[in-house]
Amino acid sequence: MKKIIFLFFTLFIFQYSIAQTTYIHCGKLIDTKTGKIAKKKTIVVQGNKIVSVVDGYLMVKSKTAKTINLKDKVVMPGLIDMHVHLEMEYDKKTRIKKYILNEADIAYNSVKFAELTLKNGFTTVRDLGGTGVNISLRNAINAGKIPGPRVFTAGKSIATTGGHADPTNGSSRKLIGNPGPKEGVVNSVEDAKKAVRQRYKNGADCIKITATGGVLSVAKSGDNPQFTVEEVKAICDMAKDYGMHVAAHAHGDEGMQRAIIGGVKTIEHGTYMSDKTMDLMIKYDAYLVPTITAGKEVAEKAKVKGFYPDIVVPKALVVGPQIQGTFRRAYKKGVGIAFGTDAGVFPHGINGKEFRYMVEAGMPAIAAIQSATITNAKILKMENEIGQIHKGFLADIIAVNDDPIKNISTMENVVFVMKNGIVYKR
Ligand SMILES: [Zn+2]
Repeated sequence: MKKIIFLFFTLFIFQYSIAQTTYIHCGKLIDTKTGKIAKKKTIVVQGNKIVSVVDGYLMVKSKTAKTINLKDKVVMPGLIDMHVHLEMEYDKKTRIKKYILNEADIAYNSVKFAELTLKNGFTTVRDLGGTGVNISLRNAINAGKIPGPRVFTAGKSIATTGGHADPTNGSSRKLIGNPGPKEGVVNSVEDAKKAVRQRYKNGADCIKITATGGVLSVAKSGDNPQFTVEEVKAICDMAKDYGMHVAAHAHGDEGMQRAIIGGVKTIEHGTYMSDKTMDLMIKYDAYLVPTITAGKEVAEKAKVKGFYPDIVVPKALVVGPQIQGTFRRAYKKGVGIAFGTDAGVFPHGINGKEFRYMVEAGMPAIAAIQSATITNAKILKMENEIGQIHKGFLADIIAVNDDPIKNISTMENVVFVMKNGIVYKR
């Protein structure tokens, strides 16, 4: 008798001690590893993990079981955007905002942008630069205080004096002061090392440099080289010591070459990339983050009078439309492509447009999805945790209405979002 009571007791405890199990019934399921689409599958989720993926629609009746019906949807892993700025959204007032917003204002804005990003299917992002509030934002999301994607942040970008991410560009000389490594302005190998260590201390996950001029900075050139090879190399070597990779904003070819030789992992935009530089990318195993959406949106906004400062307009009109063509050539040549949009330069939440632009430029839809999942997971060194719907992976799962292979714009309308086993959109 004692034995039987003990057995019942154990079963009772067992039933209530196991985490809730969610059975997700998928009409179609994209396997990002093989590029194949399977029909009628069930994803079994426990806690924040995928515990199995089985054929057919598995039903289990239990107090701790929940079923999610996505039988008329196409299901895939959560998307990864390698280039966003969650602290801001560019508009007419952006220049003045630099002087009137406090960190708390920036933080409140970023909460909204993070949620928008997540609800549009991006369960992981790399934030390539803000004031450093993005580090607190990441921490708040990780602690479950606010909804948002998993964030890998560069904190504040690193530039050289007058360079694309010099925070005092375009300001009155009375306000400029003398920004240094702490503020993200370096002018020597020693400065470069200090800036990386400072970012590590602040809690950054990766490093961003602005290897060439940029479109939206209040400066004349949008493509001149702005770092020496030695400076880039010092940054990359130092970053490696702290387990961080380096992303380089670059439009001009010379600055891009210096960045690649110096050891950066990703080239952002890559606008004027020559064939020679593409070969260099392949040789050094560097990836292009295309940001076609930013190019197109910026070129459009440059036509609106007064939207950008006068000095920015000609750069936006010339650089913007180039990006998609460069992406087309780079992809054809075999350069690794890491999906990324530069959201923040345009409104957050429309990141999914990038898929359509990639396909328009000749990349098969499945390759674009693989770029936004397995490729990016690998760069973030999370290839065994995100980017696939597979046993043991984190439960980052999204769904769209249509088959993206036949209709890529369906990626702009994500209808279901689960991150870390929690449903954020249904
Ligand atoms: Zn950017």
